[in-house]
Amino acid sequence: MLSTDIAKDIQKAVDRRFDEQVDFTAELVGFPSTRGNEATAQDFMATAFAQRGLEVDRWKLNVDDIQHLPGFSPGVIDYTNSYNVVGAHRPESPRRNGGKSLILNGHIDVVPEGPLDMWDSPPYQARRDGDRLYGRGAGDMKAGLVSCLYAFDALAAAGYRPAADVFVQSVIEEECTGNGALACLARGYRAEAAIIPEPSGHSLVSAQTGTIWQQITVKGHPVHASRATEGFNAIKAAYVLIQALEVLEAKWNAEKGEHKHHCGHAHPINFNIGKIAGGDWAASVPAWCTFDLRAAIFADDDIQARARELEDCIQAAAAKDRHMSNRPPEIVYQGFMAEGFALDDMANAALPVSLLGACHQQVHGTELKHNAITGTTDARFFGLYADIPGLVYGPRSVDVHGFNEWVDLESVRKSTQAIALFMANWCGLEKIQP
Ligand SMILES: [Zn+2]
Repeated sequence: MLSTDIAKDIQKAVDRRFDEQVDFTAELVGFPSTRGNEATAQDFMATAFAQRGLEVDRWKLNVDDIQHLPGFSPGVIDYTNSYNVVGAHRPESPRRNGGKSLILNGHIDVVPEGPLDMWDSPPYQARRDGDRLYGRGAGDMKAGLVSCLYAFDALAAAGYRPAADVFVQSVIEEECTGNGALACLARGYRAEAAIIPEPSGHSLVSAQTGTIWQQITVKGHPVHASRATEGFNAIKAAYVLIQALEVLEAKWNAEKGEHKHHCGHAHPINFNIGKIAGGDWAASVPAWCTFDLRAAIFADDDIQARARELEDCIQAAAAKDRHMSNRPPEIVYQGFMAEGFALDDMANAALPVSLLGACHQQVHGTELKHNAITGTTDARFFGLYADIPGLVYGPRSVDVHGFNEWVDLESVRKSTQAIALFMANWCGLEKIQP
């Protein structure tokens, strides 16, 4: 470990620039970087990387580069305006001090803000209230992404540079496919560890569930509503399928004892009907209904087998229905086909995990908690497809994906310090020559 003096200097350097860090985060929240609209936020990040002397690599996602790779998920949109940005620090002579390379990864994309009238203040005008910063994406995960940059700055302010390669990645598509992180792998970025400061409430994510998205469409038989019994109502038919999926969800949860990473969790598997649309007119029996399903799978599940189980469940329920048995529902894969992942299963994770524990202890004065989560993160790409331990560790945030999302700024300050200390210890330090 670093000398206590240097560690203290780095922590103080974070504190000195923290107001600026909050302002920068607030400015970044101002870009409504929902899916397909990330480009200007990425420009902002690219400028910030360049100002720090990081070498900027900005490129447009191209499905042809990634669709043959494990972990690819079918996209929901085309990638005409979809850019990743990486800022690279490459020391003159890496490894001179035995330093190890590091990826700091965060996603720039945010989920839709929902009805504006449910927010107390506009979601893309960050609002600071004491130790809270409100705004869509403030917690998930712009504060974390920005903390990577300011952790890097803190080393410089204390008079040092990392003695090994550091790649700061601002990626898109985390919330729907993960194809942004996958594109970074396809482009060749590798390191000996990765940190992803998702809002984990300063615990380390030890395992994560996988995620499958399916879009299901039922066709009805439209007739005048006055003769509804002669038609077939696609919206009501969708209910039947949704109820069958609820039974399957309960069955999967009942199997949790067989899955070591999530057996202690009350309800690890969550199915969500996140969107539904159907019909055209109150006086016509609806001819169509489409709904979007998000299903979780266990960290150690076979994703293809689970996807087939979902399909079988839907088709079995349809087969029992007179109309749907003649015209089975269509199931389309759009978005996540994300395998589960457990950092705990990686032999080479022990070293970075124990170092992060020590850095966390230094900042918080408490032991680092490990936590299995019931959602996915980009950590799976590093762990499953590149053998890089991906450590998800970041600040505390409340109401992510809801309204009035906020991030706890004191926890942002502390996790920035912990990440800076991790970088200093993991990569080693070189004195900046005045
Ligand atoms: Zn996130």
